[in-house]
Amino acid sequence: MKYIGAHVSAAGGVENAVKNAVEIGANGFALFTKNQRQWFAKPLSEKNINKFKEYMQEHGFSADAVLPHDSYLINLGHPEEEKREKSLNSFIDEAKRVEALGLKYLNFHPGSHLKKITEEECLDLISESINKAIKETDSCIFVIETTAGQGSNLGYKFEHLAYIIDKVTDKERIGVCIDTAHIFAAGYDIRTKEAYEETMNKFDKTVGFKYLKGMHINDSKAKFASRVDRHHSLGKGEIGIDAFKYIMQDKRIDNIPLVLETIEPEIWAEEIQLLRSFDV
Ligand SMILES: [Zn+2]
Ligand SMILES: [Zn+2]
Repeated sequence: MKYIGAHVSAAGGVENAVKNAVEIGANGFALFTKNQRQWFAKPLSEKNINKFKEYMQEHGFSADAVLPHDSYLINLGHPEEEKREKSLNSFIDEAKRVEALGLKYLNFHPGSHLKKITEEECLDLISESINKAIKETDSCIFVIETTAGQGSNLGYKFEHLAYIIDKVTDKERIGVCIDTAHIFAAGYDIRTKEAYEETMNKFDKTVGFKYLKGMHINDSKAKFASRVDRHHSLGKGEIGIDAFKYIMQDKRIDNIPLVLETIEPEIWAEEIQLLRSFDV
């Protein structure tokens, strides 16, 4: 079973994300559980939580099919302690929101060294932050996203994810999310069947498919290995449509949310249909 959807809007209340997902024919989705440009938000109300759960059940969504994304402000590997602490507190708050909604995952970008510390030091700080977040929460699985490696962002090599996972104390509470546009821009080719298999085998060897808890399905405006993060609609970018056929036909990628973050929300319904047509 493939859970296919998009990162939908939760404007006006988290429960609206479910409705927005249903409207585009999705059977999975991603959302922000609060304004992604703010550090903290008031707790979710009982009313919002209950409605969210009610809609989830009504439309047959399981928690496995939903991949909440955290705020863009958070940097768990921030070189300055005070800012890292603020990030961690915000991150824990996000995880508690996920748990309150009856969801499982929190998708996040590993962090940035801001050219003030080494990559390894930054990866150590990220692992330390995750371990603290695990202690402060009950069940949330923290899902590290691959990045394009723009600026000083880590997570552009599968080895970065493996390094973090290795240092996380509770392996049941950690996972990863492959963003196709990001790995492509980071230098992992998926344009041909051979390249796709090589990249995925590399992923399996370095990280392992058992940690794959979701994927972001995006074409890329940015060129191969450019280290630039620019999404595009499926088939309109540098990756091309074939890669998405390989993904849809890959049994290793069943039962996890496959989330469009493509740039034309008006055609998400069509893109979902297109992806479904590849799943044969
Ligand atoms: Zn992301
Ligand atoms: Zn993404």
